[in-house]
Amino acid sequence: MISFDRHKNFLALDFDGVVADSIAECLVVGRNAFVRYSGSGRPVRSLAEFPPGQAAEARRLRDFIRSGEDYVFIFLALSGDAEIRTQDGFDAFKASRSDLKEKFFRLFYEVRTQLSAGNPEAWAALNPLFPGMKDYLASYAPKDRLFIVTTKKTGFVQRILDYNRIAFDPGNLFHADEEHPKRTILETLAKARDADPSCFFLIDDQVDTLLRARPAGVRCLLADWGYNNPAQKAHAREAEIPVITLADFLRRF
Ligand SMILES: [Mg+2]
Repeated sequence: MISFDRHKNFLALDFDGVVADSIAECLVVGRNAFVRYSGSGRPVRSLAEFPPGQAAEARRLRDFIRSGEDYVFIFLALSGDAEIRTQDGFDAFKASRSDLKEKFFRLFYEVRTQLSAGNPEAWAALNPLFPGMKDYLASYAPKDRLFIVTTKKTGFVQRILDYNRIAFDPGNLFHADEEHPKRTILETLAKARDADPSCFFLIDDQVDTLLRARPAGVRCLLADWGYNNPAQKAHAREAEIPVITLADFLRRF
């Protein structure tokens, strides 16, 4: 049984796949970055403009994403004959083309920056929040015990929150990457607050991220409403990471 007390515990939320249902934006940006890289195909503004079948395959591969450039790797995989069925398969594919990592990261954020600056309303609309999340975040108290820890660049998170008129302290918004993984960020937060790491709850939709953060001593839960497949949910349960529904989350946290 999960026992969470807003006045005693701390809550750290992932953003994509927990707060925001950003798949349309991420796949549009990923595809357009790949078009820019490869020089073939044409840019799109929505999933509806994808070639037949591509959006469904891209959605399936979304379950293996860890960082921005991974969305471009999805389209590299789909452009060739890479058969990717598992997280390990996706990671191995990326490792085989690690020469492209930096370029894809740069292109991904270049396309996102242009899209969000050129048409901010349409861009924000591609990043809807999950049902109930807007009121949840807007009314959360005490606000100094709520954090967002995400691999998304924080400026974009802030813009989506602003668009939804959610006041959120930028000091409680953290960007995780390979040098600053979620584990380290949470350890630092706990230390700065003189709190035991077990007071922190991390809600993420990536089971691997949770497995990597858990050794810090934080309590981990997998968001079943985010981007994970049945095998990943089963993997979480085997590792004794509870899988929580959105309704349960909104009620218990
Ligand atoms: Mg996520």
